[in-house]
Amino acid sequence: MNVDVLVIGAGFAGLRTLHTMRELGLSVAVLEAGDGIGGVWNWNRYPGARCDVESYDYSFGFSDELQQEWRWSERYATQPEILRYIDHVVERFDLRRDVHLNRRMTRAEFDGARWRVTTENGEHWSGQYLVMAVGNLSTTKAPEFPGQSSFTGRILHTAQWPHEGVDLDGQRVGIIGTGSSGMQMTPVVAKQAAHLTIFQRTPNFSIPASNAPIDDATDAEVKAHYAERREAARNSPSGLGFKPSRFSALEVTPEERRATYEAAWERMGFGFILAYYDLILDEAANDTASEFIREKIGAQVDDPEIREKLIPRGFPFGTKRPSVDSDYYPTFNRDNVTLVDVRTDPIERVTPTGIDTASGHHDLDVLVFATGFDAMTGSLLRPEIIGRDGRSLREHWVAGPQTYLGLFTHGFPNLFVIAGPGSPSLLSNVLLSIEQHVDWLAELLTHMREQGADLVEATAEAEAGWVAHVNERADATLYPRAKSYYMGDEIEGKPRVFMPYVGGVRGYRRILEKVVADGYDGLDFSAVRARV
Ligand code: NAP
Repeated sequence: MNVDVLVIGAGFAGLRTLHTMRELGLSVAVLEAGDGIGGVWNWNRYPGARCDVESYDYSFGFSDELQQEWRWSERYATQPEILRYIDHVVERFDLRRDVHLNRRMTRAEFDGARWRVTTENGEHWSGQYLVMAVGNLSTTKAPEFPGQSSFTGRILHTAQWPHEGVDLDGQRVGIIGTGSSGMQMTPVVAKQAAHLTIFQRTPNFSIPASNAPIDDATDAEVKAHYAERREAARNSPSGLGFKPSRFSALEVTPEERRATYEAAWERMGFGFILAYYDLILDEAANDTASEFIREKIGAQVDDPEIREKLIPRGFPFGTKRPSVDSDYYPTFNRDNVTLVDVRTDPIERVTPTGIDTASGHHDLDVLVFATGFDAMTGSLLRPEIIGRDGRSLREHWVAGPQTYLGLFTHGFPNLFVIAGPGSPSLLSNVLLSIEQHVDWLAELLTHMREQGADLVEATAEAEAGWVAHVNERADATLYPRAKSYYMGDEIEGKPRVFMPYVGGVRGYRRILEKVVADGYDGLDFSAVRARV
């Protein structure tokens, strides 16, 4: 089937692209690998899954009617509530008819004018434009331990959770991984399982979510000022509306600093990192926050040995994506929860009845992998994407993602990546970053139509300049100090480069605006009429 815009992925990014490109009068088809709409929110159905960006901000801002009519029930929405919201959006804007499920793109090739796409089920599609809306955390990572196939219980991955749910009542459950997914799941599963064993490799920093139901007065208040809230988010570094402090953590008294941290701990979630402007820039400043959080984590855990295992050390707070938790640490005070530190007590093998670590055996009925994703590039490099001159994206990105503005890649005309590597992406409220990208692309395609251009491609110079800028900005921060998925550390052999853009949502928007003001600087347009 031939359309103007082929979109890969029916999560928030794909749906927003569909809606907006349709409004431009373009024909659009969305190909989705899964059997449902919703992207990560369709896949990640593990118990306790919820968003750690506030509901009012983690929602579409393009329609005032939509944001006025939708009623969020909690400060941080659960996965089922977000999926209901997505369903509502799909119905309200009549999006379903252009979404094609169970169509995993395996190959895309640029033929000089159009993108020719093949899906796993053997279908052929073509589009003048190819929009990759595949998400940054969508290709799951599932390490294989020796003996794993002998396990007689059930093996699950948080990001491939069965739609029908899993009854963990009275089960002996093991969870490998203590990132956001593992941390969210742990307190919920501990209440259901007969016994829960957590296999932890790197303890991470976590701030309390302070989740709460939203009452009618709060809802009315937010909705009365929604436009200002969105504007504040757009003008903040992370897209969460938090303004960074103008002060250094090192120029205030210890008492003042403590009071600031106490307030941030109670309320700010991710915003904690902005309590002082230099927490992510200066190690001594960061140490003050890291130490405060370590103390707060420690205070929640009764047993000194377990406490010691849970306290993060060796990397600055915020450099490895922190979690926002609800009762994670007190869960380790329960009699039915065991913490295994696999750095000192490594997993040796999976047996038919559980896991052997160096110190002994752990009986399990269910083994859950909360081991995360091949982040940022996983879903872009899994399919074969062949650009101009027969060069593949895998070849072009062999040393790490090469993009201009995180949206374009040289040699791949009319291919756009939404909220991809080289853009604020995972360092931002990604929903806001998605909308920023889609709106900017809509402007670009309108410009092309007006100019009679069919093709747009980033120049090699613009791309090289952007990659250098992304690296320079990252190197001026503490981010590269941690082993993290921002740096490609989660997958052995992945190039070690910092992938998101640290310049912030507001700074990035200014760059996008300047590119337009400078006549789409860094982009080449050509007027080869597309062959359909
Ligand atoms: P993750 O943050 O990458 O965590 C994976 C965990 O598995 C880490 O603790 C990792 O340890 C561990 N692990 C990986 N391989 C292992 C191995 N071979 N042996 C032992 N442990 C291993 O993945 P995630 O928790 O799914 O979260 C990914 C991201 O998704 C989050 O950072 C967040 O951006 C997003 N997310 C958001 C929410 C939310 O909005 N609330 C919820 C869930 C996820 P190491 O640290 O040592 O590698």
